[in-house]
Amino acid sequence: MSAPAPPAEPQPAAWAPSRTGPCARCHAPTRRYGVGASPLCPACKAARQAQYGS
Ligand SMILES: [Zn+2]
Repeated sequence: MSAPAPPAEPQPAAWAPSRTGPCARCHAPTRRYGVGASPLCPACKAARQAQYGS
Protein backbone atom coordinates (compact mmCIF):
# COMPACT_ATOMS: atom_id res chain seq x y z
CA MET A 1 0.00 0.00 0.00
CA SER A 2 2.61 2.51 0.99
CA ALA A 3 5.46 2.91 -1.40
CA PRO A 4 8.71 4.31 -0.11
CA ALA A 5 8.96 7.99 -0.75
CA PRO A 6 11.48 8.92 -3.40
CA PRO A 7 14.53 10.77 -2.15
CA ALA A 8 14.21 14.49 -2.29
CA GLU A 9 15.86 15.91 -5.32
CA PRO A 10 18.29 18.74 -4.78
CA GLN A 11 16.53 21.96 -5.32
CA PRO A 12 18.07 24.58 -7.56
CA ALA A 13 18.25 28.16 -6.47
CA ALA A 14 15.05 29.17 -4.70
CA TRP A 15 15.31 32.67 -6.03
CA ALA A 16 15.14 34.33 -9.40
CA PRO A 17 17.95 33.34 -11.76
CA SER A 18 18.56 37.00 -12.44
CA ARG A 19 19.51 37.41 -8.79
CA THR A 20 21.86 34.49 -8.75
CA GLY A 21 25.59 34.93 -8.80
CA PRO A 22 28.67 33.02 -7.71
CA CYS A 23 29.58 33.02 -4.05
CA ALA A 24 32.58 35.25 -3.42
CA ARG A 25 34.30 32.46 -1.51
CA CYS A 26 33.35 29.11 -3.01
CA HIS A 27 31.76 30.26 -6.26
CA ALA A 28 28.62 28.25 -5.60
CA PRO A 29 25.44 29.79 -6.98
CA THR A 30 23.87 31.99 -4.34
CA ARG A 31 21.55 34.95 -4.09
CA ARG A 32 23.83 37.87 -4.73
CA TYR A 33 21.33 40.47 -5.85
CA GLY A 34 18.07 41.82 -4.55
CA VAL A 35 16.53 41.81 -1.11
CA GLY A 36 18.45 39.75 1.39
CA ALA A 37 21.30 39.24 -1.01
CA SER A 38 24.77 38.40 0.18
CA PRO A 39 28.09 37.98 -1.62
CA LEU A 40 28.56 34.78 0.32
CA CYS A 41 26.45 31.65 0.21
CA PRO A 42 24.81 30.60 3.52
CA ALA A 43 27.53 28.04 4.20
CA CYS A 44 30.35 30.53 3.68
CA LYS A 45 28.53 33.18 5.64
CA ALA A 46 28.22 30.80 8.58
CA ALA A 47 31.87 29.84 8.25
CA ARG A 48 32.92 33.47 8.20
CA GLN A 49 30.86 34.28 11.26
CA ALA A 50 32.35 31.32 13.04
CA GLN A 51 35.83 32.56 12.18
CA TYR A 52 35.46 36.27 12.77
CA GLY A 53 32.34 36.45 14.89
CA SER A 54 29.12 38.14 13.92
ZN1 LIG B 1 30.22 29.96 -0.61
